[in-house]
Amino acid sequence: MKVLSVADRFDSVPEERVITISRVKDASCLYRYFKNHLERPKDEAAFVSIETAVGSFFHSCAEDWFKAIAARGGAIGDDRLDVAGLLRKFQLSFQWQGRLREPYRIVRRGAVFDDFVARLERIAANFNEFVAQRLAGSEVAAVEGALQISTDEMLIRGRYDLLSRDAGGRLMLWDWKSGRMPKPEYHDDFLNQKVQLGIYAIWMRYRYATPDVEGAAVFLRDRPQCLSETFTPDIERMVLDYLADNRRRLNRLKQWPPSPNPLCDWCGWKPMCPAFTGD
Ligand code: SF4
Repeated sequence: MKVLSVADRFDSVPEERVITISRVKDASCLYRYFKNHLERPKDEAAFVSIETAVGSFFHSCAEDWFKAIAARGGAIGDDRLDVAGLLRKFQLSFQWQGRLREPYRIVRRGAVFDDFVARLERIAANFNEFVAQRLAGSEVAAVEGALQISTDEMLIRGRYDLLSRDAGGRLMLWDWKSGRMPKPEYHDDFLNQKVQLGIYAIWMRYRYATPDVEGAAVFLRDRPQCLSETFTPDIERMVLDYLADNRRRLNRLKQWPPSPNPLCDWCGWKPMCPAFTGD
């Protein structure tokens, strides 16, 4: 597969020509892949887990924060995310009449809303610690952008969190994770993380004409933990081949059976999933 061009917007093409890391992950349960990417008219999931909501809320706050720094110009200095303000916004937005608003749901038995406020507080504090240690002195080069890579076979899409430029002018890409670093035996999680960063790195190499691109996923749940890779052309080739294999495999399928797994309770399709409704 050959890279033809890159863009920072998405072109409209049939599903059979698109691959993303979320499609690769969703394909571990083909029913979920069908619901998320194929079904027309598009159905709505029955609920969204509060874990997902905490992650997307944190991402949008970090995005706004980096954009404000970029608008001001200059390097990241002693800037810190306002943790108290962020928690206040989360509580005001998500809680109505003392209840979590629809479509969000707390799945874990015994957990309450305040547990997730405390989780968000830890994530934000860890983010501040990481920014102070690793990003002070760097400039914000770009924030939360759509990226598309056109190849002779398909379109690869993604959305990066942050591109920074250090004092020496070197670009680095960052991917914030509100969860924990995967356990060592969760090989697929590490694989998907590398492929996700690889997509960003390929786009960045062509977009900015940079040599080997360094990317890092930063896990913020318990303490800041960084997983980084320098993407050489050989690694990028493996990433492209892996994505092409996934797209070709999906294109050959005609049926979309569910694959029950330990995370089904957190899946918004569970109330209509044939594995649980008996249909
Ligand atoms: S509930 Fe489980 S089996 Fe059903 S769609 Fe979701 S992940 Fe797949």
